[in-house]
Formats: sequence, C-alpha cells, structure tokens
Amino acid sequence: MSSTVYDAIVIGAGSVGMPSAMALAEQGLKVLCLDAFASGGQGSNKCALGGIRATHSAPAKIRLCLDSLALFSSWEAAHGDSLEWYQGGYAFVAYRPEDERMLKELLVVQKAAGLNIGWLEPEALLRVAPGLLRDGLLGGTYSPEDGSASPMRSNLAFQRRAVALGVDFRFNERVTSIMRRKGKVVGVRTDKGGFATGCVINAAGAWARSVAQLGGLDAPVAPDCHEGGITEPVAPFLDPMVVDIRPAPGSANFYFYQHRPGQVIFCYTPSPAIVGSDRRETSAFLPQIARRMVELMPKLGNLKVRRTWRGLYPMTPDGSPIVGRSPELEGYIDAIGMCGQGYMLGPGVGALVARIATGAFRDGDDAILRELSPSRVFGGGEALG
Ligand SMILES: Cc1cc2nc3c(=O)[nH]c(=O)nc-3n(C[C@H](O)[C@H](O)[C@H](O)COP(=O)(O)OP(=O)(O)OC[C@H]3O[C@@H](n4cnc5c(N)ncnc54)[C@H](O)[C@@H]3O)c2cc1C
Repeated sequence: MSSTVYDAIVIGAGSVGMPSAMALAEQGLKVLCLDAFASGGQGSNKCALGGIRATHSAPAKIRLCLDSLALFSSWEAAHGDSLEWYQGGYAFVAYRPEDERMLKELLVVQKAAGLNIGWLEPEALLRVAPGLLRDGLLGGTYSPEDGSASPMRSNLAFQRRAVALGVDFRFNERVTSIMRRKGKVVGVRTDKGGFATGCVINAAGAWARSVAQLGGLDAPVAPDCHEGGITEPVAPFLDPMVVDIRPAPGSANFYFYQHRPGQVIFCYTPSPAIVGSDRRETSAFLPQIARRMVELMPKLGNLKVRRTWRGLYPMTPDGSPIVGRSPELEGYIDAIGMCGQGYMLGPGVGALVARIATGAFRDGDDAILRELSPSRVFGGGEALG
C-alpha cells in the first residue's frame, strides 16, 4: 500500500477521467488517475470523431456541453497547445417532413437552454454546407458555435495540465477492487498495489459496470459497437458537422465533418444496435456509409478513405450519462454512461465531478444532478442520440 493518501482517485484516463483528474487538481485536491491501458485516451476516447456540440435535447447535456465548448474553444489561447479546435458548427439536415417537424420542435428546448441555433431554409443551408443534395432538401438546424477538435490532442493536453497541477498517473495498472469499510470508500487495490483515499471516481467508460461491481455496486452501462472512418486530407470545403437522421438499411443516423487538417471523418449508428465489446472493424461498414455519404453530398465520391476503426459507446438505457454520488457507498462518484457523447461531455462532466467532490456547487447543478442521478428511473430517451 502506497503511503500517500489521495483526496481522490480517478479510475480511467479517457474522455471523462482525464478532464476530471485535471478539474479535481484545479480545486487543490491531491489526485491519482489510474488506467489499465499503456497511456491516456486508449479506450473509447481515441475512437471518437471529435464532434463537440451543445445541440442536444436533454437540458443537462446542453449545459455540460456548453461548459465543454467554452473550454475547448479557449484552450489554445489559455494553455498554448493546439487541440485542432474548429468552430464549424453542426447542421442537422431534413429531407422528410417528420424530421423537419421534430428538429423544429427541439429548437424550442434548445433555445430556452441558451443555445445559438436556428432553422435554415434550403438555400441558406446550402451556403453553410455547399454540395448537399438539393433535391428534396427541406432545410435544417444550424448551430454555429458547435465545432470539433482532436480527441487524442485534447487528452494529452489535459494530462499535461493535470501533471503540472500535481496529479499522479499510473498506466498499465488495472483497478481490481474498491476497498470499503462501514459503508465508506477507503481505497483501491490494483494489480500492482494499493492506494488509500476517501473518494473514488468511476470514469471507466464502457467498462464502468465491472468497475462499479469492484465496489459491490452496479451500474446500467453496457458497451455497444460503433465504427468510424477517415479520408485523405483535402483543401477546406466544408465547415459544419452534417448529421442526417434518416434511417437506412443497417444504420440509423449518420454524420461527417471535415477536420481542421483536411480529412473527412465519418460515422453511423448501426441499426439494430451491435451490443458487445468486439473492437474489430467490419467489412460491412464502409460500403454502407460510403453510399449514404455520396448520395447526400455527391462530391464526397472523389475522396479516398484512409482507414476505418471500431470502438465502444458506454450506453445507458435512456441515452443520458450517469453522474453523481452513490446513495449506497459514501465517497463513490459515478461519471459514466456517456453513450456517443463522452468526448464532448468530458470537460463539462470533469468540472462537475470536481464540484461534487468539493461540495462547491454552482447554480443549476441540482437540476443537472437530478437529471443524471445514478438512482433515477431509466425511462424515455434522447431525441438526438
Ligand atoms: C466511432 C465512434 C465515434 C464517436 N464520436 C464521438 C464524437 O464525435 N464526439 C463525442 O463526444 N463522442 C464520440 N464518441 C463517443 C466517445 O468516444 C465516448 O463516449 C467516450 O470516449 C467515453 O469516454 P469515457 O471516459 O467514459 O471512456 P473511455 O475514454 O473509454 O475511458 C475509460 C478508461 O477507463 C479505463 N478502465 C476501465 N476499467 C479499468 C480498470 N479496472 N482499471 C483501470 N482503468 C480502467 C479504460 O482503460 C479506459 O481508458 C464516439 C465513439 C465511437 C466508437
């Protein structure tokens, strides 16, 4: 057992664990962050496309992603490292009346939550996303303050700052048990040793359920498989992330954007969902998504695809994260179940984790914590996934 007693131990150095460790240290806490992989961001973080939007339907996700956007967009000026942040916006396109209706209805919630978002008629949308198929286009929502950045650059930048603030990192080290005494966390055991703490943060992503079980708890988080792909870099031609919510055989929605260095990065939501933790890419994904992308924006047919990959979404039954203290084990905090938005939620959730750990809450936190509570009834779902 190490002689250092940590104020907080973060399990997982991914999209959520890394900014959580940083935010906890910013509050003056002595923090240890442990990850089973050889370096930060090697779980689902490195599989994310890099899309960052506050355009959601659930108020808590909107609030947390607005916090994340503030951090991503100001990071380079504040800390010097480039995250390849680009404020290109998000465009949800509508080709079916039911999609137009749903997106317009959501605008009411989104505007009430303070989002800069509006409806664009077809010609205006084509100016924002030139090359979209004009035939049948009914318009779409456009949120210019959303954007994108590099998940691996972000993870490394957050780690650098965390180290500068005194966070200890231990990689290649798996947590094997959360130690408890009289209903309280007292430390963690790993495959290499043990560490004392009164506060553990579960930020174990797709593996969150098994980590909760290490403390005698449970969490309704199950991994499901999603593939992404990337093209060669080309000259800038597209600003926003384009999201098409129409279903097609094999997939629900699909989306793509041009990353700041020039590559087009793309992904779809498999339908039906592929539940499980198999991270091997398939031969079905590329032909299906390529067809959809070229139909929506024919000029994409000129691009060469460099590679595809498969990663895991840490899914919850209602599509919203689980963040908050456990009612059963004092000193245990969940920051899990980020579904398809863990990269964009990471900094906002990390800052919230630090406020939970220190008790220094902000106006509006109670509503967010109610919505994301580990003990909520899991019904309903997120309209925009
Ligand atoms: C194809 C694809 C595209 C995506 N695109 C986007 C996007 O554009 N924008 C977006 O916001 N999100 C996107 N996502 C989702 C995003 O990747 C995830 O929601 C996010 O990475 C989850 O973050 P996390 O910190 O919860 O998990 P992770 O980043 O996976 O981190 C969890 C960490 O916990 C560690 N761990 C687990 N168990 C233990 C243990 N026992 N001991 C020690 N360490 C442990 C793991 O090693 C891992 O590093 C995408 C995902 C995929 C697959």
